[in-house]
Parts: sequence; C-alpha cells; structure tokens
Amino acid sequence: MNSLFAGQAGTTQDEILLESHYSAHNYAPLPVVISSAEGCWVTDVDGRRYLDCLAGYSALSFGHRHPALIAAAREQLDKVTLTSRAFHSDQLGPFSRDLAALAGMEVVLPMNTGAEAVETGVKLARRWGYRVKGIEPGKATIIVAANNFHGRTTTIIGFSTDPTTQDGFGPFTPGFRAVPFGDLDALTAAIDETTAAVLIEPIQGEAGVVVPPSGYLAGVRAACTRENVLFIADEVQSGLGRTGATFACELEDVHPDVYLLGKALGGGIVPVSAVVSTWPIMEVFDPGSHGSTFGGNPLACAVGHAVVKLLETGEYQRHAATLGRTWLDQLQGLIGGAVTGVRARGLWAGIDLDPTIISGRAACERLAERGVLAKETHESTLRLGPPLTITADELTWATDQLRAVLS
Ligand SMILES: *Cc1c(COP(=O)(O)O)cnc(C)c1O
Repeated sequence: MNSLFAGQAGTTQDEILLESHYSAHNYAPLPVVISSAEGCWVTDVDGRRYLDCLAGYSALSFGHRHPALIAAAREQLDKVTLTSRAFHSDQLGPFSRDLAALAGMEVVLPMNTGAEAVETGVKLARRWGYRVKGIEPGKATIIVAANNFHGRTTTIIGFSTDPTTQDGFGPFTPGFRAVPFGDLDALTAAIDETTAAVLIEPIQGEAGVVVPPSGYLAGVRAACTRENVLFIADEVQSGLGRTGATFACELEDVHPDVYLLGKALGGGIVPVSAVVSTWPIMEVFDPGSHGSTFGGNPLACAVGHAVVKLLETGEYQRHAATLGRTWLDQLQGLIGGAVTGVRARGLWAGIDLDPTIISGRAACERLAERGVLAKETHESTLRLGPPLTITADELTWATDQLRAVLS
C-alpha cells in the first residue's frame, strides 16, 4: 500500500498534492481547498474566506447549508434514508405532487444526477415516439442544439458538438441531429416523421449563458406542437430560480412537454434529479422499463421537497430577478478592454473575455486571490452564478473585484 501521504493534512499545498496523487485528473481545479461553508461564503484550509459565485454550477442555488434544507435532511436522516423502489416511502408522493405543481405538470420520475434525467428524457422521447406517435421501429431521432451541454454519459456526449468531451470515447449512440442554437428555421427544417423530440437548454449554461433570440423558445414550442414532437427543456442548470423565474422557459411564456431538473433540486446536499411531465407522455414507462436504485430515495425526496417549498413563495425568484437587473447594468459597464460581451438573466451571467488580454483561467485565479470564486467555460468566458441568497452588497463587492481583475 502506498502510504506516501498517509496522515498528512493541513495546508493548501499538502491537500492539493494528496488529492492529485490519488484522485483522477478529470478536472483542473483552482488552487482553493475548501473545508467549510455557510450561505454564500466558503472557508479554505488556511482560513481564507471566499464569496462563492459559482455555487456548484447552480447545485448550490440556495447557498451552502441552507438552514431549512439542512433541517429537512437531518429530520429524514433520523427516520429512513433508502428504501429502494421495491417498496413505497412516505416521502416520494408529497415531493412528486409539489414538484409537479411547481412545474405546472402532472407527474415526476425521480433520478439522481442531471445526466440521468437527460438519459431518462431520451428514453421517454423514444418510447413515446414509437408507441404514441407511431415512428417506424428503430428510427426515432431527437433534435438537439449545437454547443449543448447535457452531461457526461456516452450517449449524451455522443450528441455534444464539443470535441474535447468526445475525444477517445466513441462509438456513440445514433439517433441525434444537431442544429444551430437559436436558429428556428434550421430546427424546423430538421424535423421529419422520425422526430420524437427536440431537446434543448432554454439558455445554454456551459456554452457561456447563451440566451437565444427572443421568440425562439415560443417558435420551438409552436413547431413541436404543429409537428407532434415533444419539447424537452433541460433546465438542470437554468431552472429552479436561477434566471429570476422558476424556469427559464417562463421568461418567454413557454411551457414545454417535459422538464429535466437536477442540480439545485438536491439543495447542495444530495444529488436529486427529475423528469417532470404529463401523464399521456409519462405513462409510456411501465414497471421494469426504467429505474434507479437510489432514484427517489426518502432522503433525496425530503431535501427535494424542502427545495420545492423554498420556491413556492416566489421569494427567491423575485430576488434573483430584481438583483439581476441592476447586476446586468453593472456588468455591462465592464464592456471594453478585456470584456468583449456580457449576457445575464437573473443571477446567471456569461462574460466574454478577449483571450489576448486575459484568459478565463487567469481571470478566475486573480478573482480567487481577491476572494471571489468563479469558473471559466470554454477558455474565454467567465460564468457567474452566485447563490440566489446573495445580498445586493455582496454582489456589488463581487462585481468590484471583477472590475479590478479585468481592468
Ligand atoms: C450539469 C448539467 C447536466 C448534467 O448534470 P450532472 O448532475 O452533472 O449529471 C445536464 N444538463 C445541464 C443543462 C447541465 O447544466
């Protein structure tokens, strides 16, 4: 046994060495070793504090250790944590009822990670395509958008258009067609009698918080209705308050056929994802056709239910919408020099940088030195998504640090 690092613990450098020795290098983390957190703030092993403006890519939308979510988890930990779906639990029903109502839907299929929700959505669309729409067996297609991000399974990366996610992992699952995001004509032209679903992020997160042209989502909705195609909205990152609305689709008054949810649904405590839809669609799943050992476990349901309760009042959504408006003004004030473009909806922003002036990575390192955590996406875009619990003063302070780094 290699005991090179046994017993060694403490400083940032020690912890980074230990982690990189024993833990696979599928990420390139910033050199910050977090050991505790509360609300919008994290503390590292050397006692430094940082304002968390990544918030676990929306998984921490309610901040770290939100009291209501921790209380729900604690209470459930003392009762029962896992039953498997071989039996019922007293947590799945109430969670499903209230999540379905929040989404204006009828039925919930619980899973764990976002990628599993997407995989479930793909299976749902295909089976619906064959059994309800009558697509010729084995021929179903799903239309996706270029520059999508839907997770990391082999099927999902197979319809990614980002070569770095695919390199060396093929062969991939057939049955997907990618069209440019935001181009309604291209999407409409791609629909034919084999099309079961359109699967898109209403705002593309990993692509850099890319907001489609206004009217696009309504156009997708209309095309799907006209052509008898399911509109599946992947709101794993955009959903549950992030954009100032419960769902990003609501910003355009659009109601999809299927919502895919995750990240914030687990309250930053446990992975919880869900496919949310109506009965005429979801009823294509019968016993044995799909499942998950952990999906819908009582602990996950208790936490997910507490998240739904937080969102039912609309308070977080309003806060994100209100703060988001002033924030967008502040961010637009940064344009010029290193900043070439800014997009934001609610508490979610993409800031394009001129890589000849500063790379996204370098900007994040300098932000961290100033006590703000953020992460670049695709080298030259900063993606900011602080907890929805952030105050106006904290957000202004974060923007001040950003200004200092970028000017
Ligand atoms: C993060 C993300 C996923 C994948 O979620 P995981 O929990 O990491 O599997 C899927 N879709 C979108 C839009 C995401 O942002």
